[in-house]
Amino acid sequence: MNILVINAGSSSLKYQLLNPDTGALLAKGLCERIGIDGKFTYKPQVEGKAAQDAVDVAMPTHAEAIKAVLDALVDKDNGVIGSMDEIDAVGHRVVHGAETFACSVMIDERVMQALEDNIPLAPLHNPANIVGIKACQACMPNVPMVGVFDTAFHQTMPPKAYIYALPYEYYEKDKVRRYGFHGTSHRYVSGRAAAMLGKDPSQLKLISCHLGNGSSITAVDGGKSVDTSMGFTPLAGVPMGTRSGDLDAGVMQYLMNRYNMNIDEMLNVLNKKSGVQGVSGVSSDFRDLDDAASKGNERAALAVDMFNYSVKKTIGAYAAAMGGVDAIIFTAGVGENSASQRMAIASGLEFMGVKMDAEANNVRGKEAVISAPDSKVKVLLIPTNEELMIAMDTAEIVKAAKG
Ligand code: AMP
Repeated sequence: MNILVINAGSSSLKYQLLNPDTGALLAKGLCERIGIDGKFTYKPQVEGKAAQDAVDVAMPTHAEAIKAVLDALVDKDNGVIGSMDEIDAVGHRVVHGAETFACSVMIDERVMQALEDNIPLAPLHNPANIVGIKACQACMPNVPMVGVFDTAFHQTMPPKAYIYALPYEYYEKDKVRRYGFHGTSHRYVSGRAAAMLGKDPSQLKLISCHLGNGSSITAVDGGKSVDTSMGFTPLAGVPMGTRSGDLDAGVMQYLMNRYNMNIDEMLNVLNKKSGVQGVSGVSSDFRDLDDAASKGNERAALAVDMFNYSVKKTIGAYAAAMGGVDAIIFTAGVGENSASQRMAIASGLEFMGVKMDAEANNVRGKEAVISAPDSKVKVLLIPTNEELMIAMDTAEIVKAAKG
């Protein structure tokens, strides 16, 4: 079975063709500058097939982008499948499923309407996801499509974790609550953690740390998300590359008055100019910060320290929330690559049974146990694979629908 996984943004579209049964990746790539001019990248993962790197392909809309993807996949010289019939289904990453979607679903007219209804909750992302789905439906009218939501995994949170301490009518009337994001990643790595530990997910209390340019931490109890650090939007939680993370809302009023900013300008600062970029004044990339810190840049060192400290605090909070923790998972760009940050975050947690193994932690980008053999709480490095999770969900839903 081959599943085409699509992640559509407003002017870009990432794709992968995967076999969810074997996990084999056949091809991946990216369409950029959709609606502007169009750049197409194709990376076949099969021996002897040639890649294309940011070549000019006119893409006035997402439909031309999808057509370029399909043409490349079936190309007689460099394609990886013989015909479009070999694409069994398409899995779409959708950012916001609100309270409507607690799991992945087959896309039909009702689902499309619900996605439209949820646009106010994700005004930047959901419209692009909808355009991507419509473009695929136009090019592949008979291929089943499945929607996989970033928010769905967190729909199991109890009200005490997702209700904000605001007048309750803002939740009832306006759907203002914690939704959480990165759900597909947290679900994937917590499933892998259970497999690595040889336990059923229902027996485990896990803390999943997705640390990348955007970061979120999730408490997973018995296979279910029970709390997560991002909120109504992905701006909440730990400081990130350029996002502030949690902030006293009073700061906004003070700065808006002082610098005569409107709310959009203020949010632009919080989303694009804050986080480790804002504190360091150097970069949003942790590699640059390590570099600058090693040369004596104190603000770069402070930014990394603040980030690590905030992740550590959240781990402590979630262990308390669950009444214990069996394993802590590190994933995404920082979590998979930065041994020094994993060590900084997990050291000092010996009081709760976490004992790191410096040698085992000296690893990157592959599944590994990085805690000491006698650590009560296991610490795991697990590379995330959201596309594979989307492909697996898509295959399962399509197979179930066929009966
Ligand atoms: P992601 O958003 O998951 O793609 O993660 C991207 C982030 O991972 C980058 O901004 C980097 O800060 C970080 N990253 C990647 N490689 C390393 C590394 N070797 N050491 C520290 N951070 C890294």
